[in-house]
Amino acid sequence: MRTLLPYDEREDVTLRPAAVAKVWLGVGQAHETVAVPGVGLGRGDVLVAIELSTVCGSDVHTVQGHRTAPTPLVLGHESVGRVIAVSTDGAFAADGAQLRVGDRVVWSVTVSCGTCDRCAAGFTQKCRALAKYGHERIGPRWELTGGFASHVHLRSGTAIVRVPEMLPAAVLAPASCATATAWAAVTRGAAGRTLESARVLVYGAGLVGLSAIAIAADAGAQVAVVDPSPERRAFAERFGATAATTDSAPADIVIEASGHAVSDAIAAADIGGAVVLVGSVFPADPVPVDAESIVRRLVTVTGVHNYTARELVGAVAFLTGPGRGYPFAEAVGAVHPLSEVDAALAAASAPGAPLRVALDPR
Ligand SMILES: [Zn+2]
Ligand SMILES: [Zn+2]
Repeated sequence: MRTLLPYDEREDVTLRPAAVAKVWLGVGQAHETVAVPGVGLGRGDVLVAIELSTVCGSDVHTVQGHRTAPTPLVLGHESVGRVIAVSTDGAFAADGAQLRVGDRVVWSVTVSCGTCDRCAAGFTQKCRALAKYGHERIGPRWELTGGFASHVHLRSGTAIVRVPEMLPAAVLAPASCATATAWAAVTRGAAGRTLESARVLVYGAGLVGLSAIAIAADAGAQVAVVDPSPERRAFAERFGATAATTDSAPADIVIEASGHAVSDAIAAADIGGAVVLVGSVFPADPVPVDAESIVRRLVTVTGVHNYTARELVGAVAFLTGPGRGYPFAEAVGAVHPLSEVDAALAAASAPGAPLRVALDPR
């Protein structure tokens, strides 16, 4: 298992000026600024200077107290940045290429050991020794743990994907949460069958839903969207969806990306259909299940949480390829300097907030 090396086996990298991390202390408290003048890289670790981070809905949920989190904590798990130091024994991108100083990269929210039973079974996001960027209490030997900072210390076991210079940071930052999760959801829903002409119904036009719409539509699916907001529905049309009508169900693949329409999503699947639950990432009341209906329709109901390295690679390939035809960059409605992290989080949770608010540490 990959564990944090003791100090005397680490390579010191000093930072002048010191790296800056915004540390969240608890509900209702302003972020504290922590200066980190150096990090100790373990074998296979990488130090990245962050170019842009976006505020995910789960960051907002944490700050509002809707989910528990160990504090003090550096939030943020949607970022793009540039490699500024690599451990001397080398570090590798998810495609196997050696990472080099200067590479522009995105990285997985999870750090996985690669050897435990869950990793071996392909569930690397549920590794027995799991760590997650933006979710860990800061501590000695690993302080730069989240995206709301000038730098992040990527540990061995992180899926790191090199990204082209030409793509806007606003498109790339959400890759490591929204886009990769959407890629995992669509892939799971398709489950080996072709998306060409498949009827896909997406509940929720947040960034996961919009990304799923674009991925499915680009593969030739007929995609309909359900969202209470007329503005979100109109935006979803630019990602390839039509607004759902009474004809939109039954669908071959139903993706529930809101967390608020689980019963409707399960009911909307046609014979042999697949229902992918991906939006239920916050506590909610249990949902009654009509088991007989699921049985008689031969419906598969599946959950997707986070993603694997392969799915992050797929998401980035989509964004750098056909995804360029969709208005992903417009999802970021405001960019704040890192020093305004509290204002950025307030803006991200305000009524009518843009899909993403970004933080620029430079
Ligand atoms: Zn997220
Ligand atoms: Zn593992």
